[in-house]
Amino acid sequence: MEQHPANPYYSRTDTTILHVSDAEWKKVLPDSVYWIAREKGTERAFTGRYWDFEGLGTYYCAVCGNPLFRSDAKFGSSCGWPSFFEAIRPNSVRYQRDTSYGMDRTEVLCGRCGSHLGHVFDDGPPPTGKRFCMNSVVLEFEPDRK
Ligand code: FE
Repeated sequence: MEQHPANPYYSRTDTTILHVSDAEWKKVLPDSVYWIAREKGTERAFTGRYWDFEGLGTYYCAVCGNPLFRSDAKFGSSCGWPSFFEAIRPNSVRYQRDTSYGMDRTEVLCGRCGSHLGHVFDDGPPPTGKRFCMNSVVLEFEPDRK
């Protein structure tokens, strides 16, 4: 399990909704995570650690430790970002309309800490038809124990 000594809000078991200011997150998160999670940045396609990754396990929020996705909902997408057809639980993520950059998209936020994770589109595979297009930087993969 990854250790987060600098981040007192990180927990894989505490489901308390977090209300933490960006100034505070800035102090406890690596710059790369802060930029995507709190400034809604996007990693360059085909550069993240998970777009092409097929391990069996669980993906957690890299900001707060909230469980987000299971590997069995991940699918090979040619878009260059890790893609899932559903979240691990309905309330593990939240949604918000995003009209930035002249597009009309649905932003996906962590259900616990409210951090930006990516966007969801309607061109995914069965059974949901959804494509959760996520940034690897804000995900942490934990393999299943044998
Ligand atoms: Fe989170």
